Amino acid sequence: MLVPLALPEPYDYAVPDGMHVELGSYVVVPLGAQRLIGVVWGEGSGKFDQKKLKSIIEVMEARAMTAGLRQFIDWMAGYTLNARGSVLRLALRSPAALEPARVRVAYRLTDKRPARMTPARERVVAHLADEFLRTIREIADETGVSDGVVRGLVEAGTLSAVEMPADADFPGIEFEAHGKPLSDEQQLAADLLCERVRAQKYAGVLLDGVTGSGKTEVYFEGVAEALRLGKQALILLPEIALTSQFLSRFEARFGVKPAEWHSELSTRERARVWRGVSEGRARVVVGARSALFLPFADLGLIVVDEEHEAAFKQDEGVNYHARDMAVVRASLSGFPIVLSSATPSLETVVNVEQGRYERVALTERHGVAELPNISAIDMRQDPPERGQWLAPKLVEEIAKAFAAGEQSMLFLNRRGYAPLTLCRTCGHRIECPQCSAWLVEHRFRKELVCHHCGYTSGVPKNCPSCNAENSLVACGPGVERIAEEVAEKFPEARVALLSSDALRGPQSHEEAFRAVEAREVDIIIGTQIVAKGHHFPWLTVVGVVDADLGLENGDLRAAERTFQLLQQVAGRAGRAERRGRVFLQTYMPEHSVMRALMAGDRDAFLARESEARERVKLPPFGRLAGVVVSSENAALAVSFAREMARTAPRADDVAVLGPAPAPLAMLRGRTRLRFLVKTGRHINIQAYMEAWLSPLKVPAPVRVSVDIDPYSFL
Ligand code: ADP
Ligand code: ZN
Repeated sequence: MLVPLALPEPYDYAVPDGMHVELGSYVVVPLGAQRLIGVVWGEGSGKFDQKKLKSIIEVMEARAMTAGLRQFIDWMAGYTLNARGSVLRLALRSPAALEPARVRVAYRLTDKRPARMTPARERVVAHLADEFLRTIREIADETGVSDGVVRGLVEAGTLSAVEMPADADFPGIEFEAHGKPLSDEQQLAADLLCERVRAQKYAGVLLDGVTGSGKTEVYFEGVAEALRLGKQALILLPEIALTSQFLSRFEARFGVKPAEWHSELSTRERARVWRGVSEGRARVVVGARSALFLPFADLGLIVVDEEHEAAFKQDEGVNYHARDMAVVRASLSGFPIVLSSATPSLETVVNVEQGRYERVALTERHGVAELPNISAIDMRQDPPERGQWLAPKLVEEIAKAFAAGEQSMLFLNRRGYAPLTLCRTCGHRIECPQCSAWLVEHRFRKELVCHHCGYTSGVPKNCPSCNAENSLVACGPGVERIAEEVAEKFPEARVALLSSDALRGPQSHEEAFRAVEAREVDIIIGTQIVAKGHHFPWLTVVGVVDADLGLENGDLRAAERTFQLLQQVAGRAGRAERRGRVFLQTYMPEHSVMRALMAGDRDAFLARESEARERVKLPPFGRLAGVVVSSENAALAVSFAREMARTAPRADDVAVLGPAPAPLAMLRGRTRLRFLVKTGRHINIQAYMEAWLSPLKVPAPVRVSVDIDPYSFL
């Protein structure tokens, strides 16, 4: 029995007489004083005396977990060095789903009237005259009477009970209808995907198409083929790209909305989708990374859209890369996986070169749309005025677009007003008290905010260090500051500011995106939430306010990620008849990233990156594991990390670098030190890490966390 706790091995339990369980059954078991939901994982170890074992309390009604999902959990635990129980927990996120869907009881009015009428009873009777079914709760709330009044009417026979199914069902998908006529190139790609789906065995396919080439339309055909075979399909998207625009496109193709899976679902909706997926009623799920752990009855295809997105990497709790794990799930269960991107990751490109994945390409934008023209604005030659952030050339281009009734977008991947508040008198910089990070000013909210731990404080009047008055200055721009500058320069323009915190909740984002589509907005200013996936036909000018921003950290993927992000942003421009123009404000126009963007030469850029990484044996040509040692007790963190360094086993082709203070040396009050383990490609890095870490006796105030294939080096 595997229970969703950080325990490495399943526990043994006895099956009471007359109880039927099978592999994968969801059951309730006692553990200490608790009752837990677990999953039957095997026959039991046989190591314990049967009579002394505790018994399973109850078998849940849900369908047993498939062998494919159990195997996947085992595999993933081994790869990521997490306890199997911790990985299982990812698949048990919706305990309510294991109960049978609760039948709701609703009431309707009969012809009988109670012997004694009261004003409250009158109100209920009048309210229910419309013959709608309502629960007791609803009746009480809508008429303002107590539950007791309603129950009294039930007893009197004035209201009679009707059972309603608890879950709304999943409407039938019309996979034959609504397909768009495809171009030759698109058809070729779609045919290949369909063929792989029909083969019903593992295959990895990179769908490599420029922005606007119709990748979505093409992989929808693969999804339709899976449905024709009676299989289910999963489309994984970075959470931020899960927009109503995407869902509407799905609906346009398939006649109905897909089942959704992401962090904003209500408990009830979560349970409904979980059950629908496990019973095979929900045929297509569009979800964020955790959708990978849903109990599909019969999955026949996974699509990972925007496969290069770092957002697929989970960096807390169980560290895993959803794209890589999706590939594992497909290969264990024997069905194809499609990785879709206009800017595939180097990992994926190398997998194609080495023959592990096939590649299908879409080289043209759909219809008459052409790829945008990308140029650099050299900020050394054409600087903005003092205290401003937009170069004259860019302002002029926005003005031209505005005059022509077209839209412009300004992209800056930095929330808030200014990333640093500095005292002119003493040079003090306002930092987070719990993290080694500056506080970011959010002027609309009138707050200083730590973007790492969420700490907030008011904006002080005087310098907290020297107490000088009117001496604090905001340094550098965030999107709010750009919005201020745009409002000054284009007072007539209608501006939308889109940043994950300027607007709360998806509704307001959706509303903003709708307004942009409806041309109720002239200038869009946004962080990375505007970079992904949106199709705005009237957008022609894109300005990247600080193209160098992502290159500043020394992360091994900094250049690759900057290229991908800017290429995505640029891809928003000119997606319909009018050609797009993209301007990169940079101090390094000769940098390889800027040159590749301007020349539109992705492959040459990737080839150079690939060579550079191969030379120093960095991923995908070598393996990495990150280790963070942290504690609120700084001295203990340091001494324990030193001891770890001493006990690291020596091995060929394995280098243990560190301990070094992490770039975020303090986070939420914990001192952090990092190791980086670097090995050759053929080395079993998990085995090495086990050999190093399992003998360690980690003192309680210290935490050691391991990240295989790290993407964050902070
Ligand atoms: P990508 O995902 O490659 O950026 P999309 O799938 O978003 O491209 O397609 C870009 C736009 O072109 C969308 O509005 C899409 O509906 C449209 N489109 C693509 N292919 C076709 C087609 N064959 N027929 C009609 N419209 C298409
Ligand atoms: Zn902080």
